[in-house]
Amino acid sequence: MDASRFPNLHVSQHPLVAHKLALLRDKGTEPKKFRELVRELSWLLGYEAMADLSTQPITVETPLESMAGAELEPKVGLIPVLRAGLGMVDAMLELMPSAEVWHIGLYRDERSLKPVEYYNKLPDAATVQVCLILDPMLATGGSSAATVDILKHWGAARIKQVSLIAAPEGVATLSGAHPDVDIHVAAVDRALNERGYIVPGLGDAGDRQFGTFAGPSSEPGHDPADETAEVVRRLQRNLAGEP
Ligand code: URA
Repeated sequence: MDASRFPNLHVSQHPLVAHKLALLRDKGTEPKKFRELVRELSWLLGYEAMADLSTQPITVETPLESMAGAELEPKVGLIPVLRAGLGMVDAMLELMPSAEVWHIGLYRDERSLKPVEYYNKLPDAATVQVCLILDPMLATGGSSAATVDILKHWGAARIKQVSLIAAPEGVATLSGAHPDVDIHVAAVDRALNERGYIVPGLGDAGDRQFGTFAGPSSEPGHDPADETAEVVRRLQRNLAGEP
């Protein structure tokens, strides 16, 4: 993918990120280790994603004297995309202990791959200025774009997406709908397959974190419905700039 088409896309170049991502992808990585890696990668990507947040000056009393210090200016909200995004929350709270965590439940209709909202208890007015959407896999981009719609309507001033792996189709969908949203990822993979999985990817990020390998019914697009493959083909035409 030509990343220069997407100025809002930030692919980490950190060697620790590359190292941990390879371990995460490995099919032999067990859920316990997988969860640890999701947490460590989230920490590293969160650190990079927060690099441009503003600070305000404060005075700090060290044991020896007063000095000028800084504190983070905006209030930050974390919005994990259920369920796989939950594994990214603790790392972000370590970085920003006073961040608020708001849950928005969207599920991906397995045939159409379209997001359907089933949980949203946001208060009427935004309580934070910066929102971080946490989803390990930016696949079709449909859930993320829908979450951004909700957060903008809520009044969030700035929104960033933090994902471990993105599909080019997902980057194009989210950037096309919301070019002002920064996307921070460890890698952009080759493509989506006809079942809506990112390839080479890492499989189902939720199942791999939570050990729920129940079989085909828990997989996106398990019923290889023509509709799912058609949605993927439409996203691919969109990415290629075709009608
Ligand atoms: N969700 C996942 O967990 N994995 C994918 O490859 C795509 C969506």
